[in-house]
Amino acid sequence: MSEDCVFCQIIEGNIPGRTVYEDDDVFAFLDANPLSRGHTLVIPKNHHERVSDLPPEDRAAVFETLGRLAPVVEAAVDADGVTVGMNDGEAAGQEVPHVHGHLVPRFDGDGAGAIHTIFRSTADLSDDELDEVAEEIKAAAE
Ligand code: AMP
Ligand code: ZN
Repeated sequence: MSEDCVFCQIIEGNIPGRTVYEDDDVFAFLDANPLSRGHTLVIPKNHHERVSDLPPEDRAAVFETLGRLAPVVEAAVDADGVTVGMNDGEAAGQEVPHVHGHLVPRFDGDGAGAIHTIFRSTADLSDDELDEVAEEIKAAAE
């Protein structure tokens, strides 16, 4: 628990939140500034900033809950799909430094794009550069 973390304070009940699910490991509540009806956040109860900071059991719990709640939220608001996403790190737009997954219900014709629309263009990489990047990541992932 972090005293100065808004999400930890919601878990503790010190700041009001619209809780939709809770168990020993995770907490899910409505986003206060929803991008669409039903916009839900799923967070680990333990305070960690980045996805990579999560111990495996918390990582598993967060992703299990995102997968389980996505169709639940979708059905609850009669949506047609869900954008499941995480802003991981300040450069990626993460504003609250407590890991959270967004479940944003999507509706046919809602006018919002795919995750790809975050970028105005694709990265201009040659086949050689793609091979090089793949090798670098592969070597680091081993
Ligand atoms: P991110 O940019 O991924 O860090 O998203 C943070 C999200 O937290 C935003 O969508 C905010 O609307 C949401 N948020 C911030 N404060 C609160 C709060 N007190 N209760 C519910 N949602 C919040
Ligand atoms: Zn926190």
